[in-house]
Amino acid sequence: MKTAITGGAGFIGSHLVQYLLAAGDEVTALDNLSTGRLENLRDVIGHPRFHFVEGDILDRSAVDKVAVGATRVFHLAAAVGVNLIVEHPLESLRTNIHGTEVVLDSVLANGASLLLASTSEIYGKNTSDRLSEEADRILGSTLKSRWTYAAAKGIDEAFAHAYWREFGLRVAIVRLFNTVGPRQTGRYGMVVPRLVKQAIAGEPLTVYGDGKQTRCFSYVGDIVPAITGISEKTSAYGNAYNLGGSHEVSILALAERIVELLGSDSDIRFVPYQEAYADGYEDMRRRVPDNSKARELVGFDPQTTLDQIIRSVAADYRPNGKPDPVQWKGTMVAN
Ligand code: NAD
Repeated sequence: MKTAITGGAGFIGSHLVQYLLAAGDEVTALDNLSTGRLENLRDVIGHPRFHFVEGDILDRSAVDKVAVGATRVFHLAAAVGVNLIVEHPLESLRTNIHGTEVVLDSVLANGASLLLASTSEIYGKNTSDRLSEEADRILGSTLKSRWTYAAAKGIDEAFAHAYWREFGLRVAIVRLFNTVGPRQTGRYGMVVPRLVKQAIAGEPLTVYGDGKQTRCFSYVGDIVPAITGISEKTSAYGNAYNLGGSHEVSILALAERIVELLGSDSDIRFVPYQEAYADGYEDMRRRVPDNSKARELVGFDPQTTLDQIIRSVAADYRPNGKPDPVQWKGTMVAN
């Protein structure tokens, strides 16, 4: 298969590149290297079936360059991370809304199928026990820039759905819930790499608010095979699928586990949200996925434990350490 991946030099994108090359695809990655890094692709640069295009999804000619001749496109390029969104709301909105529209239009014109990466953020402050794909969205004020990411990704989904309904674009949507693993950077607000880095450096682990807010972290090695599987199901077109971890943990418990597991001397320090973020930040207390739709479609059953996730992220951060190879938890696709 000929596959194009926008955001292919990013955290998830670079793992997807490796997974699909191993499955036999010809893979082209498009990335503007804003939050992504060529370093993430060091193991595949020079691979005979891998091509890299440095370019922006806001540039139609750059997107066409990778979409022409592609069988399928994975659209992962986005402005991601609370810090980035709060500090650069306008640029983030442009990338996440206009950029996606450019990709949708190009993919339609070039006859490929599309997998759109969306996010659990679209559920906003809905703290229900298990968020199904039909769950209501509860977003904060439009004047709080934190919600612009959720708003933009919601528009992306609506755009994708409209392209499917009106033009028959073969597009499926995945909603990722806090995916973590090696190569994720803590620079833009991702909590696991940030806390792991602090623990390794012997610095206090900074927990925002009271630390009782919970999340369900999932491992990139569980997520990438599921994304790929969904992209190959015709029944997924016009649909959205949650992909999240199966274990709910508070951020305080996460910090404590990181300290214990890594044998760190670090303390835990509580930081008020107002101190941690610029104006416009608001957190949600809880976010728990109902993964049953993806389980039925592709057998999604994330098995990687929190301890395994912490260890794999830590291996990536140890000075002079070698990152552990990602273990793919799912059926390897064969083209
Ligand atoms: P990432 O920041 O590592 O990857 C995004 C990539 O897109 C980067 O390589 C960046 O350089 C590139 N990019 C940004 N703007 C671009 C532009 N205008 N043109 C071309 N490339 C551009 O983040 P990630 O965690 O790998 O996220 C990948 C996708 O998954 C995103 O769409 C994100 O919204 C979604 N997602 C991720 C998570 C998570 O927990 N990591 C959760 C929900 C959704």
